[in-house]
Amino acid sequence: MRYAIFGDVHANLEALQAVLEDARAHEVTHYVCLGDLVGYNADPVACLELVRSMECPIVKGNHDEQACEVTDLSYFNPLAARAIQWTRDQLTDEHKEWLKALKFSRLVRNFTIVHSTLDSPASWGYVLSDLDASASFSYQHTQLCFYGHTHVPRAFIRDTRVHEVAPDLITLEAGKKYFFNAGSVGQPRDQDWRASYAIYTPAEQTIQWRRLSYDIETAQKKIIAAGLPERLALRLAEGR
Ligand code: ZN
Repeated sequence: MRYAIFGDVHANLEALQAVLEDARAHEVTHYVCLGDLVGYNADPVACLELVRSMECPIVKGNHDEQACEVTDLSYFNPLAARAIQWTRDQLTDEHKEWLKALKFSRLVRNFTIVHSTLDSPASWGYVLSDLDASASFSYQHTQLCFYGHTHVPRAFIRDTRVHEVAPDLITLEAGKKYFFNAGSVGQPRDQDWRASYAIYTPAEQTIQWRRLSYDIETAQKKIIAAGLPERLALRLAEGR
C-alpha cells in the first residue's frame, strides 16, 4: 500500500498529469487529494473530472468553496477573484454540487487530511509557523495529518515541543505527531515552479516529498487563451 498525497491542483492539468504519471511509476496504489482542485489556471473541468473519476478521499479547499458560491469575492486578491469568476462560469451546476458536498477534513485509514488547519478548517487559516502548527496539533487525533493551502511544502513535528523539519524524507517515529504539507501540484509558491506532492508508505512509515517538471508552456498558453490574467501564467514560472 502506497499513497500519493496531492493538493492545490488549481486547474493545472499538465501538472496533475505529471504527478499521476510519476505516482504510477512509483507503484502508488492509493490517492488522496488535499483540496483546491480549481481556481487560478485554465482546466478546472478536466481536473475536477479526472480527480472525481479516481474516487479517492478528498477534502474541500477555499477555492473549491468559492467556485460553487455566488458570494462576493472581496476576501480574495483581485487576480484570484477574476480567476474564481471565470471558474464559476466554466463549472456546471452538477460540478458545483459535487464540490459543495466535500468535507473540510477526513480520516483516511489511520491519518487525517485537511486543506487548511484542524483547529478551524472552515476559516482557511494558514499554517506558517510553529505556533500555527501547535494550534492545529491540539485537534489532531491521529499521528499523521496532511494539509495544503500554503502551496509551500513543510513538515512540523510535535514531540516535547513543536518544531519544523525539512520535508524531504521523513520516517515517522512512535510518540510523535506529524503535520505535513505536500506542497502544490498546480501553483507552487516556494520559488520552484515544479509540481509538488508526497508519497506516503505506511508499511515503512515514510513520507517522501517529490518535485516534478511538467509541460508548463502548455499550461501558460491555455491561461492566456482562456482570457485569464497574464500574471497567472507568469507566476507559474516563478513558483510564487
Ligand atoms: Zn490553494
